[in-house]
Amino acid sequence: MSSWAGGVRAELDTCGVARKLFSDHKTIYLVFTGHFSIDDAGYFENFDGVETVLNTLKAKGVKGSFFPTAITLAMPRYESSIKRIIAEGHYISGHSYGHLLLCDTQGKTLVTRDSVNVDLKLMEYQLERFGLKKEDYRKMIPPYETANKETAQWYMDKGYSLLSPTLGILTDQDWTQPGKPNYLSAQDILNLVWKYEREKGLDGVILLIHAMNYPWRTPDDRPYNHLGLIIDRLREMGYQFGCIKDVDL
Ligand SMILES: [Zn+2]
Repeated sequence: MSSWAGGVRAELDTCGVARKLFSDHKTIYLVFTGHFSIDDAGYFENFDGVETVLNTLKAKGVKGSFFPTAITLAMPRYESSIKRIIAEGHYISGHSYGHLLLCDTQGKTLVTRDSVNVDLKLMEYQLERFGLKKEDYRKMIPPYETANKETAQWYMDKGYSLLSPTLGILTDQDWTQPGKPNYLSAQDILNLVWKYEREKGLDGVILLIHAMNYPWRTPDDRPYNHLGLIIDRLREMGYQFGCIKDVDL
């Protein structure tokens, strides 16, 4: 399934969520998410990588797209970073307010429509506190990057377009813990990106990187600390970087 808009062809999944964005040039979309866990004051989930990410994007002249949960937007400690995202011309939207898990792995809906609508209201309130209007942020990533057909439609009924990271790229696995069977180091994660590039190419890919510090990882083991290298290497391969702001989804 696909649709054309504004010179970009969006490849949609079966729920109508954009998973790749093709144009007339090899383009990659860097998207950054952040969550904040209120029950442990952000020990586990936080947005603490955001300043490093912004510094790297500035140094490389790249516009990124940011999707923190709106709980993150509500935290005074990120106020200046959010303003910086906006001032430096990046795209910003939400990733829900409270990071609801919309459906299970079998696709069974786990939330009510009402709870999604309330969550959206809370998200909109936080985004608009920063002077943004619906038209500025109506392209969003669903919480957990996961929706089923039913819940995706609820967002669309409220005027949202959904996008999510391209499947099969494991850059979101930096929450895994050293010593556990599913652990992937930052180096493993980067190697898997290069492998994907060799096998399928990264044209149109929506590449998620957490701007987050998971507590059991050293700085070198956090993918966002390798963002400069990722950008340089992809540019050498002929890719350019697109911003969701410029995509008419
Ligand atoms: Zn998430």
